[in-house]
Amino acid sequence: MTDHDVVVIGAGFAGLHLLHSLRGRGLRTHVFERGSDVGGTWFWNRYPGARCDTPSLFYAYSFDPGLEAEWRWEERYPSQPELLAYLQHVADRFDLRRDISLGTTVESAEFDEATDTWRVRTGDGAEVTARYVVTAVGCLSAAQDPRFPGLDGFAGRVLHTGHWPAEEVDVSGLRVGVIGTGSSGIQAIPVLAEQAGHLTVFQRTANFSLPARNRPLEPGEHESERRDTPDLWEQARRSPAGALWNAGDEALVGADPGAVRAELDRRWEFGGAGFMTAYTDIAVDEKANDVVADYVRDRIQDIVDDPETARVLSPHDHPIGTKRICVDTDYYTTYNRANVALVDLRESPIERFTADGIVVGGREVPLDVVVLATGFDAITGPLDRIAITGPGGSLRDKWSAGPRAYLGLASAGFPNLFMVTGPGSPSVLSNMVVSIEQHVDWIVACIDHLVADGVSRFAPTVEAEDAWVAQVNEIADMTLMPRAASWYMGANVPGKTRIFMPFAGGVGAYREICDGVAADGYRGFARD
Ligand code: NAP
Repeated sequence: MTDHDVVVIGAGFAGLHLLHSLRGRGLRTHVFERGSDVGGTWFWNRYPGARCDTPSLFYAYSFDPGLEAEWRWEERYPSQPELLAYLQHVADRFDLRRDISLGTTVESAEFDEATDTWRVRTGDGAEVTARYVVTAVGCLSAAQDPRFPGLDGFAGRVLHTGHWPAEEVDVSGLRVGVIGTGSSGIQAIPVLAEQAGHLTVFQRTANFSLPARNRPLEPGEHESERRDTPDLWEQARRSPAGALWNAGDEALVGADPGAVRAELDRRWEFGGAGFMTAYTDIAVDEKANDVVADYVRDRIQDIVDDPETARVLSPHDHPIGTKRICVDTDYYTTYNRANVALVDLRESPIERFTADGIVVGGREVPLDVVVLATGFDAITGPLDRIAITGPGGSLRDKWSAGPRAYLGLASAGFPNLFMVTGPGSPSVLSNMVVSIEQHVDWIVACIDHLVADGVSRFAPTVEAEDAWVAQVNEIADMTLMPRAASWYMGANVPGKTRIFMPFAGGVGAYREICDGVAADGYRGFARD
């Protein structure tokens, strides 16, 4: 008999929901979590300004109406402290903590062919066995820490947004440098600028950012939205991105230019990523995309006082939306502050760190604190960190030329292993919580079915996996997505194979495919 029926790796949104659901099916489940508390993404990303840019109405579990009714979100978009408090509340409300080992990193998982079980080894040297392993490690949890020359000799403090300290970091009066202008940098920069004595932003690639227009929620606002749309969750689950963005149903190309301008103005003023769903062809037609990109570049020129700074901040090297769109509060206006400077790393790359700062273009920028907002080894990175070995070899080796997984849920050659939001699923192109719930429901029903049928080994066939990977690529190629050197493509990690990793066909379509696979007796999987 194994120690557990199921071992879950990670106690963020996915791991907590898995534990609750698997337990509900009578399965002996244990969760290992590397952090010292639950929360996953929202435990680690505590940098100033950290906030989700999916509205709080949708960025929450839908599986328990009681939980939904009792939790009050304070703002249009949930902040990191609020999200962490929510997940801590979920852990307590469902009495989950007794089956979670905190501060425990899973180092390896090895499949034992003699018993068809997994041996899971943790950083403290302990080993447990389980019939199933489910990874709930998140897509953006392996931080990228570039090794700049001289970094170790820097006398100041170096922080990464992806593993920010729990205690408050006070930069009052200090000279702060931020490297990176993705979503994390763009959220942190305005908050740091208010506190720092001086802030220097080191930008390698300009990114498109949209105003969030965050605000406190009116009392009862969510309740009335739910009353007005009783099938809100069902609509979100069947939607392209797992949340309702009031998507337009017309193409931009061919539309009246005045009407397009008015619609983009309206959406800009309303705020949020719904701006990108104004027309049906923005993600697939270069002409439509150019109109929207020009609109945002015009807004940057309007907002930023110094024309040269505005020029450097205006993205020109990728279609809008092909790198993850950023959503900000006061990002561009921050460059109008007297204590903020922008360094264009394309013109003046980082040469080295010294004890006192960073040398760019032959001059030293003196700094007390450097914030690395340099992102993550996305999607595959968190799985790569665990030595996962199946009967035929390691997952790292199998994926060295790019990840291969059937439905993004399981990988051929790795029996009884499931992945929540793995490569080849909508994951990072969607509202993660809705996608997580879909995977959790599918995986839990599948394991339940396997246990009832007395199945010992269950894994996708190579043929099914190959066909799925081909389909994921075909769909990506129908969009402008592969045009950008994005983390979706693995392009941000030196040496990583470039392949578009998520499924771009939409959350609703993907759900139907997964449901169809299950209804067909788990088509594409082999069992012993
Ligand atoms: P990111 O989008 O990958 O941005 C990293 C930034 O660091 C980029 O500007 C990148 O430049 C720069 N960079 C990386 N290595 C560098 C180097 N060696 N030298 C100079 N610059 C370097 O990472 P992120 O901002 O942490 O965001 C990652 C994802 O997390 C987001 O896209 C989003 O999905 C999620 N996220 C969401 C939220 C939210 O919901 N509000 C907030 C934060 C993060 P290049 O572009 O040139 O590579």
